[in-house]
Amino acid sequence: DILLKEAKICLSNISSLNHHLNALISVRPSESVLTRVSEVALRCTESRSGLAGKLFAFKDNFCTVDQPTTCASKMLQGYVSPFEATVMTRLYKIAHAIDIGRANMDEFAMGTDNIFTVYGPALNPLYSTPRSAGGSSGGSACAVAAGMCHFALGTDTGGSVRLPAAYCGVVGFKPSYGLVSRHGVVAFAQSLDTVGVIARDVQTVREVFSVISAYDPLDPTSVSIELRRQLQATTARRRQASKGKYKIGIPLEFIVDSCSPDITNAWAEVLKKLHAQGHELYAVSMPSIKSALPTYYILGPSEAASNLSRYDGVRYGYRANVDRVANGVLYGMTRSEGFGSEVRRRILLGNYNLSSGAFNNHYIQAQKVRRKLQLNFDRVFSVDHPLEKPIDRDDQPTVDFLVAPCSTSTAPLLSDVLSQKSPLDSYVNDVLTVPASLAGIPAISIPWHTDDGKVVGIQIMGQYGDDDRVLDVSETIM
Ligand code: GLN
Repeated sequence: DILLKEAKICLSNISSLNHHLNALISVRPSESVLTRVSEVALRCTESRSGLAGKLFAFKDNFCTVDQPTTCASKMLQGYVSPFEATVMTRLYKIAHAIDIGRANMDEFAMGTDNIFTVYGPALNPLYSTPRSAGGSSGGSACAVAAGMCHFALGTDTGGSVRLPAAYCGVVGFKPSYGLVSRHGVVAFAQSLDTVGVIARDVQTVREVFSVISAYDPLDPTSVSIELRRQLQATTARRRQASKGKYKIGIPLEFIVDSCSPDITNAWAEVLKKLHAQGHELYAVSMPSIKSALPTYYILGPSEAASNLSRYDGVRYGYRANVDRVANGVLYGMTRSEGFGSEVRRRILLGNYNLSSGAFNNHYIQAQKVRRKLQLNFDRVFSVDHPLEKPIDRDDQPTVDFLVAPCSTSTAPLLSDVLSQKSPLDSYVNDVLTVPASLAGIPAISIPWHTDDGKVVGIQIMGQYGDDDRVLDVSETIM
């Protein structure tokens, strides 16, 4: 059967490549995977969905009940969750997809190069010299690009699915916030955390998304069944009205000095192709994008500081070997020893922003900028945000989608990212991905192969809830 044949190829790629690439931090035994594939092949012949018997990897921050969920942190070594992430349950039970193991990541999903991990960095499979696989879902993107699985799950809080997908030359999709359940996904910054999908083609992403996008009563931010119906109807109407021809926006604030010529050239090539296909192109401006990066690095760490306070050395996870619990000794030692440097930095940054002296100037200001940024996006899109009152749009042209690069460069050398002097050097890489995260809108990175043999991630963003059409337009470009 073709399923078995495909599974064997994935397993052989794992056994020949994973020790070097370090994409997967735990791998299911081959025999058990093949047995499962045979079972699914037999059982699901009639009703076989596109994903039945397909293999997937998942980032180490998705909870499963039969293996430790560690978030690549010393803090959670050996921790086994009492419950399973809703998306995992859906992939197992509804799609009959089969997991091959857990993927490497930056500790608690904080990072851009998959270097902050107790398991050691994941490497980019596209290059023979060690280059960054991107982060924080670097293991997921690497596993897909190296042919270890058909697709992978990641999480995207500020770009962590899109950036590694861009570096590894695969598709990485961050859906609208709230469409995919976060239940059982370890929290980093809960107002931004989004489950995302990585695959080699848009069709597979679409299939996975259709399985995992569902109302979940266990996630308080899950989009209601009613709104989902409404979104479906709107999508159908918009598809009919547009007849496959779109208005494409070129967001001027995405032209940043740090962008390498490879990236800007690829962007121009994509725009040329879209124009040749008969889509209309417009330059659009969203001034608040200029403040998106600092806003993200205030809100993200603030939420993280609050979320990560639960790792106290008492309830679960790592506990420092101290005999004094009093005066915060156990708490302090546990957290100093259990968290890596980047996570500790975010906690300090977050607690500072939340402290009484800084709260009004930092946290509250950042929330205001975030709101402005959301309104900037609403004003640019031709269609209204389904959760907001209709707005007056000013004179500037409105568009269906925005097309921009996803990263400022192609995958950097690992030696360069490991020798970075300041954390800011890596934070600036998120400048192109955090706007969509703060606005909660769907965004995808698709690989674009340049004439001179490079692969660049091109980002497409759409209005909140317009996920299916973002996938439509992605397919026309790829
Ligand atoms: N690179 C960003 C950060 O370090 C994004 C992380 C993410 O999306 N999980 O915060």
